[in-house]
Amino acid sequence: MQLAGGGQGGGGGRISVDLAALRANYAVLANAAAPAAVGAVVKADAYGLGAAAVAPALAAAGCRQFFVAVLSEALALQPHLPADAVIYVLNGLASDEAERGAAAGVRPVLNTSRQARDWLEVAQRVRRPLDAALQVDTGMSRLGLSPETAQALAADASFRTAAPIALLMTHLACADVTDHPANALQLARLRAVADALDTPPPLSIANSAGVFLGEDFHAAVVRTGIALYGAAPVLPGAPVMSTVVRLEARVLQVRDIPAGAGVGYGLDHIAEQPARIATLGVGYADGWSRRLGGRGAAMFEGVRLPMVGRVSMDSCAIDISALAPGALDEGDYVELLGEAARLDDVARAADTIPYEILTRLGPRLARTYLDTATAKEVQG
Ligand SMILES: *Cc1c(COP(=O)(O)O)cnc(C)c1O
Repeated sequence: MQLAGGGQGGGGGRISVDLAALRANYAVLANAAAPAAVGAVVKADAYGLGAAAVAPALAAAGCRQFFVAVLSEALALQPHLPADAVIYVLNGLASDEAERGAAAGVRPVLNTSRQARDWLEVAQRVRRPLDAALQVDTGMSRLGLSPETAQALAADASFRTAAPIALLMTHLACADVTDHPANALQLARLRAVADALDTPPPLSIANSAGVFLGEDFHAAVVRTGIALYGAAPVLPGAPVMSTVVRLEARVLQVRDIPAGAGVGYGLDHIAEQPARIATLGVGYADGWSRRLGGRGAAMFEGVRLPMVGRVSMDSCAIDISALAPGALDEGDYVELLGEAARLDDVARAADTIPYEILTRLGPRLARTYLDTATAKEVQG
């Protein structure tokens, strides 16, 4: 029995990931950030798209720096990357992970004094330098050393010898608000740490939105996730990114209902007039938010088909009365995310952000990797 979608098709929904569009987005970011390098953030399985396919495509486009959140992601990613690629673990390594991380050659982002001490100890034990990144909390109060602690570590020659600081980084809290004063303040705090050092390490500041805050924020490496995957940072001067993800739901059943009939749990939707309803094979267990019931829509040949009634675990319903009879039938597919059903719009309708929409897409949805440049389809 096939439990997950697993690329076999026939499930209630399918995702196609356009690797050519992904590479195009990488090129747009590389151009915008040059001469800074573009690092790819592929945590959470490349935001749900499948890191095992996404990361090699980016590597083929020239990307050599990859960022994940946790060690298990780094270890799973490593076989898919060229030998000269480096992987940073953003959350750092727990004490009992440092040795495994070092053996695998991954680079932790050192966020706490304990993480720094553990890494130093492992480096001394294995008697070879172990590269790491040092994160400074410049005001977000999420992860990272205080500027003073970071400065002291980075000024410590024996620490730098044992644990060369490949990146001195920080993360912006408000990069998506161009003129937010926190951006300049965070930049200044990171620079103050670097400027006080005889040999400042390469700096890394910007996420996707940060790339469009101007070259002051580019530094040595930008760390981009969501823009690679097609969600444009909503900033003046930011380019429109190519659509990478397409989610389609299969029509399980079509029915005509009379005025007054209810649809779905709680009969939340009552048809005001006779309607044609299609039940789709994607539900909240696939990551399709319950909030989209009564608010979201599917797209079919340019027509917006409103989502009606509550989203069930394995299905949801749309009103297809706007289509000609027979235009959409059992076994056909409608778009839930893609060129027509824009990720940003879906996120807004679900009261969330594109990141959450993508990372929730579940394992039952078969993922197919499409390379429009070569019209080659790869099963993932
Ligand atoms: C997730 C993350 C990123 C990527 O952010 P995007 O907005 O997706 O580009 C960059 N840096 C850090 C530290 C992150 O946690």
